[in-house]
Amino acid sequence: MSISRNYVKIREEIPKDVTIVLSVKTRTVEQIEEAVDAGVTDIGQNYVQEAGQMYSALQKKAAKVRWHMIGHLQTNKINKALRIFDVIQTVDSLEKAAAIDKRVEKARKKIVSVYVEINIGSEFSKAGIKPAEHEPFEEYIEKLIRDVSELEHIRLEGLMTMGPRFGDPEEVRPYFKRTRRIFERIKGLDLPNVDMKYLSMGMTNSYGVAIEEGSNMVRIGTAIFGKRG
Ligand SMILES: *Cc1c(COP(=O)(O)O)cnc(C)c1O
Repeated sequence: MSISRNYVKIREEIPKDVTIVLSVKTRTVEQIEEAVDAGVTDIGQNYVQEAGQMYSALQKKAAKVRWHMIGHLQTNKINKALRIFDVIQTVDSLEKAAAIDKRVEKARKKIVSVYVEINIGSEFSKAGIKPAEHEPFEEYIEKLIRDVSELEHIRLEGLMTMGPRFGDPEEVRPYFKRTRRIFERIKGLDLPNVDMKYLSMGMTNSYGVAIEEGSNMVRIGTAIFGKRG
């Protein structure tokens, strides 16, 4: 099937209030254009450099969509990232949040939306905050969120998680459940400058389970574009 038909099919399949972030790493500009023409509203990129090239090549179409940073953000790339991205989903420490905050003004933006990334499986190979390293984790996250919420040029709007990758997506369900509980807990605190709107979890092999477990933002590449070459 074509990219546009894949997108439309998934869009029709999942609830309206679930945002699809199209994961575009390594894809061509023509492929991304086809998806944007089919109605994609949000684009996710892992690499700042590649995002910059895509943004320029897409010209007017680039400004029609929201850009999400979903890869690890190095401090020396923040300035450039702020020129491209509307949302940074991969904040994993107060230091990173403060580094972003400091540069937002310089980028002549008033505020940037950020999500905290949780490495819910505490996987050594992945980015994000690992529960196993910060028990009791619920308290740790709450403190981090309170600290980040005091930064002036940042608005905390969500949590992001990858979750372990299993052959059977059912196996990731308990990890998504735990992330959802943390999300609801933070939302319930009703902190100033925090607007917990988005729970970003679920990818091609797991978005069905993720939505059942309360995700309202899925990041999908393969199911729309096909396998990466
Ligand atoms: C690549 C990627 C995705 C999309 O993965 P697919 O399996 O291709 O849907 C989602 N989130 C992140 C952080 C990614 O790096």
